[in-house]
Amino acid sequence: MFIKTPQFIQSFFPSLVWEKDNSEKNIWLTFDDGPTPEITPFILQTLKDEDIKATFFLVGEQIETYPDLFQAIVKDGHLVANHSYSHKNGWISCNNTYLKDVEKCQKLMPKNKIFRPPYGKISPLQIKKINKKYRIILWDVLSWDFLANITPEKVKNNVLLNTKNGSIIVFHNNQKSFKNLKPILKNTIQELKKKGYNFSTTW
Ligand SMILES: [Zn+2]
Repeated sequence: MFIKTPQFIQSFFPSLVWEKDNSEKNIWLTFDDGPTPEITPFILQTLKDEDIKATFFLVGEQIETYPDLFQAIVKDGHLVANHSYSHKNGWISCNNTYLKDVEKCQKLMPKNKIFRPPYGKISPLQIKKINKKYRIILWDVLSWDFLANITPEKVKNNVLLNTKNGSIIVFHNNQKSFKNLKPILKNTIQELKKKGYNFSTTW
């Protein structure tokens, strides 16, 4: 996980996107990992019920394993984006291998223009190379939904207390987060709507 000191990191890597324009009440819901049979249908149904769109940072090998789920995400009008082919940690991967892994995922979504590094871990050289082709999207609001011993209520509060205009919110489209999202995803979205936020997928 990136230690989040945005001003510090931002000054070295101005190209990294931690949050979006805050002049309007727009926020960006993002779901990392998957597609995953245990949770993707639940997320899609919730987004459909609430009539909003989100961005899915998907893992290439999961797309190939679950092509029908991938198609369901696309068909519902959500944005699919690159989260690498095999979810490598950039800090311990050789650059060539890492970049090839990103391109292997990209073949499955040729029109995509954004990338989120797995674990938020990416080296300066990798940033430089990847930025030639993609915008690198990080986040300002982490829900911590992947933690085994967090309560769903706490996940919801992490989101509601930290979201502001222009926020990029991270949930997870994986097995670990299902127990935490199932009870609260719908209500969290409803609370964000009550605060007047619009849900954008325009990057
Ligand atoms: Zn991930």
